[in-house]
Amino acid sequence: MTKITSIRTRVWTWKGPTVPPSGNFCTNASDALWIKGDAMASFRFHQWLTCEVETEDGTIGIGNAALAPTVVKRAIDDWYAPLVIGEDPFDYAYIWEKMYRRSHAWGRKGIGMTAISAIDIAIWDLMGKLVGKPVFKLLGGRTKEKIPVYYSKLYSGPVEVMQAEAEAALKDGYQAFKMRFGWGPKDGMAGMRENLRRVEAVREVVGYDKDLMADAYMGWNLDYAKRMLPKLAPYELRWLEEPVIGDDVAGYAELNAMNIVPISGGEHEFSVIGCNELVQRRAVSVLQYDTNRVGGITAAQKINAIAEAAQIPVIPHAGQMHNYHVTMANTNCPMSEYFPVFDVEVGNELFYYIFDGDVAAEDGFLSLDDARPGLGISITDRHLAHFDITE
Ligand SMILES: [Mg+2]
Repeated sequence: MTKITSIRTRVWTWKGPTVPPSGNFCTNASDALWIKGDAMASFRFHQWLTCEVETEDGTIGIGNAALAPTVVKRAIDDWYAPLVIGEDPFDYAYIWEKMYRRSHAWGRKGIGMTAISAIDIAIWDLMGKLVGKPVFKLLGGRTKEKIPVYYSKLYSGPVEVMQAEAEAALKDGYQAFKMRFGWGPKDGMAGMRENLRRVEAVREVVGYDKDLMADAYMGWNLDYAKRMLPKLAPYELRWLEEPVIGDDVAGYAELNAMNIVPISGGEHEFSVIGCNELVQRRAVSVLQYDTNRVGGITAAQKINAIAEAAQIPVIPHAGQMHNYHVTMANTNCPMSEYFPVFDVEVGNELFYYIFDGDVAAEDGFLSLDDARPGLGISITDRHLAHFDITE
């Protein structure tokens, strides 16, 4: 038995160049506010948290989190790390329950569950390294030769720009694409037409033999979404993502029951019980938890079992190795979201600048190596000059 001896957290703040987003980049929850200010501020994030869990033999497992890194760091340093130090990493399910139950009054969603996720992912990476196997092998093994990915970008902008981006992605071999909506309830019928024009324009480029998805990132409301669904029907979207805010489970269920466009969501849901509600109420047709928010790999595997039994596919939010390993090990996870490698824009891309080992898509697929233990990533110093790091 080897014991966990320390947990090191670091917040990485990007200070390098960023690509400024355009005005109608993507709708989001702040659009409903009276004074919007920089509404996109709640969407962009230029910080990341790394969480390294070390055992007495010097092996280090790496976890990470992207939600509110400075606050999550405090939660880990002050609350969770003392609960985990001294434990055997192979008691991962017990450690998870200990973290969950000792913070239940405040930690079961949001910051607490994000902190639990970062530690849990690090523990899985650690276990893989300790036994010399990739994490997907510990989860049940390979269910696919390669993982199909969908190209996730196409932020709302000028029609020609979106079409050129879709064209380039198509040439790169992607078989599925996700775009973002730029207009919401405050923009009325004219905004609806702008949204529809862009779906039509992207369809024009990728055709109807490929999957196309569209994301409102919680920037619509139930009334607006109900009016949009029939208008979207002709474009045969594989799914409409996060039409309403994360808490409005009844809204998701109502929209999904309309059976016009499949509804997806879950990247802002937390824990096994939270996701179970989405599944049991048939609130989503595709479940999109993010392993580094939902409770880590330990929770993800339990959620996968629930979703599989209900025949609801799981396609985790965001790329990243913790999601790819879970996807590889589950038949019910048909593909992965993939953020193309790009200059820093919304912040989704930052992990490429912090870690080495994140696999790149080729011809619309990515491969996981049987010979790389753990998650297969390491923290890189390639871009250190562009980060402020808080220990
Ligand atoms: Mg999304």
